[in-house]
Amino acid sequence: MMSALGFLAGVLAGRLIELGQVDDRLAGHNARLLAHALRVSQESHRLIAAATHGAALCSESDIATLRVLLFNSTFIRDIGRTQDGMLRCSAAWGELPEPLRLPPPSFTARSGAQLWTGAANIVDRRIIGDMAAQHDVIVFTAPGAFDGFPEPGSGIDAKIVTRDGAYVYRRFGRTHDLDLAAAGFDGQAAGAFASDRRVRACAPEAGPDLCVLSRVRSDAWFQLPAMVLSVVGALALSFLAGLCVMWRLHAGSAKTELRKAILGGEIQVHYQPLRQLASRRLTGFEALARWRARGRDVSPSLFVPLAEAMGLGRALSRQVTSQALRDLHERLQEDPALYVSINVSSADLKDAGYRNFLLDAVSERGLSPANIALEITEGTPLSDGHVMAMVKTLRAKGFKVFIDDFGTGHSNLNYLAEMQADAIKLDRRFTNAIGVEQAGSLIIDHVIAISRELRINLIIEGIETEEQARYLLERQPGAIGQGWLLGRPVPIRELAAK
Ligand code: C2E
Ligand code: MG
Ligand code: MG
Repeated sequence: MMSALGFLAGVLAGRLIELGQVDDRLAGHNARLLAHALRVSQESHRLIAAATHGAALCSESDIATLRVLLFNSTFIRDIGRTQDGMLRCSAAWGELPEPLRLPPPSFTARSGAQLWTGAANIVDRRIIGDMAAQHDVIVFTAPGAFDGFPEPGSGIDAKIVTRDGAYVYRRFGRTHDLDLAAAGFDGQAAGAFASDRRVRACAPEAGPDLCVLSRVRSDAWFQLPAMVLSVVGALALSFLAGLCVMWRLHAGSAKTELRKAILGGEIQVHYQPLRQLASRRLTGFEALARWRARGRDVSPSLFVPLAEAMGLGRALSRQVTSQALRDLHERLQEDPALYVSINVSSADLKDAGYRNFLLDAVSERGLSPANIALEITEGTPLSDGHVMAMVKTLRAKGFKVFIDDFGTGHSNLNYLAEMQADAIKLDRRFTNAIGVEQAGSLIIDHVIAISRELRINLIIEGIETEEQARYLLERQPGAIGQGWLLGRPVPIRELAAK
């Protein structure tokens, strides 16, 4: 009797542990799918916002802009222009010989965007996909945007729906009987022995109207060997917990070291020359932060974002600026046309004291604002009035402003035109694509066209070979270049020797 009870208690305990694991797995899957759906939706919104009211509708430079946006997107396959319910042109198809009428939308979202699910592509009906349109822009979601869902072997069915469940954006697996009304949603636990396990999660109220429902059917999990799973699960969990503790300790100490390095003035600065591509004449230097921790160089692509997340971005920029002016002031005084370009973060541009810091820094060294160029990345929120106002003030004071890593973000060309930057720096991934990837070379041609249209200088990053230099020179004889071919970033003592 006792052993039978013991056995039953064992099975019950195993079953509860197993249920807990199924629920955890399901909740994890649901959260991942929701996060992914939000990324896809945000990218569509970002692209639509960046393309809205661009250059003249479907002009050559308008299509060029759409192509640049498209090249840098992950989940979008095409982006086009609409007018009076007709598709006029797109990045992939160019200007259509005749505008094509859009079918009636399946749904109009809270944001006003019109949506189509599983629609035949307007240009070629063999292509089926999702579309979203707002203002004069339409984006086509890539067919593989949700690859990897549902996670293979998980036995999970899921769907992405509006908050009220009335509109289904996407389905995964068997979803005909998966709806909000079914037991188990709305926070009611389905009970340990309910047959199916279900979970629902939604985007925050202020975000897109989007929820994800996921379910594991009982036949998918009931046969799992409970005891083995629970033992393995417990071991794996304790191992993971150990890893987490180690990771936190490690991350904690990296942060402490970085804080010490920034506040203690241990960050070094290296200088990389910028040169006229045609004459190879020096035009300036970019100041690049360097950090050596425990005998190893840490990439600025890692420590700069970490410093920014720790609220130390402004301290870092100020240190790099002071150091650069200390190292280069004599050289800049000798040749007043030279400049040093400094990477700034959005925190700098939101800081009311930044302008005075820069003005003091140049005057202390007997320099003028034109000796400093400020590199702001395309990701900088120029739609923020304070940021745009600061950029304009700095320009009015005589500082140069460069748009760094151009082509990797989603620049709204209106902002670019409004702030009248001195130069755009084409990201080095496009230079890498020369002679390798046709789309990359196409984009270079288009960015050259944009820079001409906006009358902005062009600086090309990442020039490593003579072949790349020749290719670029042919297309833009006035371009400035930066890259291994023209000089690597070096400490000041090596620069002085050149
Ligand atoms: P960035 O501003 O685009 O800087 C150019 C990056 O390209 C540098 O990487 C440089 O070493 C690298 N580079 C230059 N020419 C070539 C080339 O021909 N081939 C290749 N493969 N790479 C080349 P680095 O120094 O690793 O810096 C990475 C990024 O970190 C910078 O990109 C910049 O966004 C950021 N960063 C660096 N220093 C600072 C700083 O003081 N403040 C801020 N806010 N960001 C910084
Ligand atoms: Mg830069
Ligand atoms: Mg760059």
